[in-house]
Amino acid sequence: MKFLSTRGQTPSLGFSDAVATGLAPDGGLFLPESLPDFSGQLGRFERLSYAELCFEFMRVFATDIPPDTLRSLIAASYTRFTDPAIAPLKPLGKNLYVLELFHGPTLAFKDFALQLLGHLYAHQCQVRRETINVLGATSGDTGAAAIHGLIGRPGTAIFILYPDGRVSPLQERQMACMGADNVFALAVDGTFDDAQSALKEIFGDQAFRLRHRLSAVNSINLARVLAQCVYYFYAWLKLPAAERSNVEFVVPTGNFGNVLAGWMLQQMGVPIRGFRIATNQNDILYRMFTTGEYRVGEVHPSLAPSMDIQVASNFERFIYYAVGREPQKVRDVMQTFKATGAYTFANFDRGSFGASRTTDAEIRDIIQRVYREHGYVADPHTACGFKEINPERVSVILATASPAKFPDTIREAIGVEPTHPSLEALKSRPIVKHRLKADAAAIREFIDRHAVG
Ligand SMILES: *Cc1c(COP(=O)(O)O)cnc(C)c1O
Repeated sequence: MKFLSTRGQTPSLGFSDAVATGLAPDGGLFLPESLPDFSGQLGRFERLSYAELCFEFMRVFATDIPPDTLRSLIAASYTRFTDPAIAPLKPLGKNLYVLELFHGPTLAFKDFALQLLGHLYAHQCQVRRETINVLGATSGDTGAAAIHGLIGRPGTAIFILYPDGRVSPLQERQMACMGADNVFALAVDGTFDDAQSALKEIFGDQAFRLRHRLSAVNSINLARVLAQCVYYFYAWLKLPAAERSNVEFVVPTGNFGNVLAGWMLQQMGVPIRGFRIATNQNDILYRMFTTGEYRVGEVHPSLAPSMDIQVASNFERFIYYAVGREPQKVRDVMQTFKATGAYTFANFDRGSFGASRTTDAEIRDIIQRVYREHGYVADPHTACGFKEINPERVSVILATASPAKFPDTIREAIGVEPTHPSLEALKSRPIVKHRLKADAAAIREFIDRHAVG
C-alpha cells in the first residue's frame, strides 16, 4: 500500500518511508491511498488476541515489512502492558462501558502507538544499518510515551524538550528518571510554545537534520493513527453482538488523533454508530463540530492538560476527506486558516460526530459523581467523556490516562489519592535533566554532542 499527502504535492511513499518521514515535505499529512473494506469479513477477527488483531490490521497497510517480521514487532510492542487484555472493556452500567487505554508503561493511551513506533524505528535502523536521532517537544504524555518506546534501543537516541516547571512532577519523572544513556530530557527555560518554535527551527535546518538523521516524534505520524484504529476494533469485537451497531465511542480529544483513528475504522466498514468529541475548556473542536467554524483560540491551562490544545494537528486528515479528497481544497483551507486563524466550512455536515465541552469545575464534579454512581475513578481527561451520555446509544468512553497520574485533582474531588506502583518506584530515582535555553542554537549544540551515529 502507498501513502499520499493531504496536500498532494509529495510523491506517494511506502509505509516505512511514510513513517520515517513523519510530516510530508509539502507540509501535509500522510494517508492511505485507499481505505480497505473490512465489512464482509468482520467474523474473521473475532477472538483474536489484541496483538493478533493488531497484526491482521496493520499488515494491510505495512505491506513493505515481511509479515513474520511485522508480527514479531507487534507482539513485542504489547508485552509491556500490565493488563492481559491490553485494552480491557469494562461495563459500568446499562449501555455504558469504559475502554481502559492506560495499562501501558506510561499509563496513558499514547503507549499504544508509541511502543509500536519505537519498534518500527529500531527495525528500520537495523535493516538500513543506520542510526536515528528522535527529537520532540512535549507538554507531558507524548514525551514520556516516546521515551518509553525507544529506551535502550540500539542505534537510537531520543531528545525530548519540555517547558521546565510546567509539566506535572510525575510526568517529569517519567521522562527524566529513566537512567538510560540514549534518553535526554531537555528542560527548556520557557513555555511549551517556545520549545515548539525552537524545534521547528531545528527541523528547518536541512543540513543539521540530515547530518543526524533527525526524526520528529509528534502526534501526526501515520503509524500512530493506524495503531490507534486497533483498540476501537478490539472494543467493537468485545461488545455483545446486539450492541455493536449502536455503539457511540466517546473520545477525550485534543489533537484529534485519537478520535480520527476511530472514524477511519468506521470508514473501513466497521459499523460504528457514532463518535462524541469530548473537549475540555480548550474547545476549538467542540466549536468546529457544533458551528462549522474552525477558529483558533487562546490556550487556557486546564485540569486535563494533555488536551490543552487549540490547533488540532490531526484535523487536516479529516479535512481531506471532508472536502472530497481534493488536495487543492485542503491547501486552500489550511492557507486561509494560517493567514486568518479561522475557516468556515459552508454547509458543514458533521456526519456521525457529536461534541461536548467540559470546564474545570465540571471535571471535578464529574469525577465525584462517577465515583459515587459507579465506584469508578476517572482521570480528568476521561471525566470529560462522562459529560453527556446519549441514552439512546451504547456508550464506550475511552479512558485515556490512569487516575494515578493526576493524584491532586482526584484527591480534591473524592478525598482518595490514587497510586500506581510504577509511579511510586520513580519517586526514589534521581532526576537527570539538562536545562537549556529555549533557543535553537543551544539545543543544536547539545544534540551535536550527544547524538548517535
Ligand atoms: C494526548 C492525550 C489526549 C488527547 O489525545 P489526542 O489524540 O490529542 O486527541 C487525551 N487524554 C490524554 C490522557 C492524553 O495523553
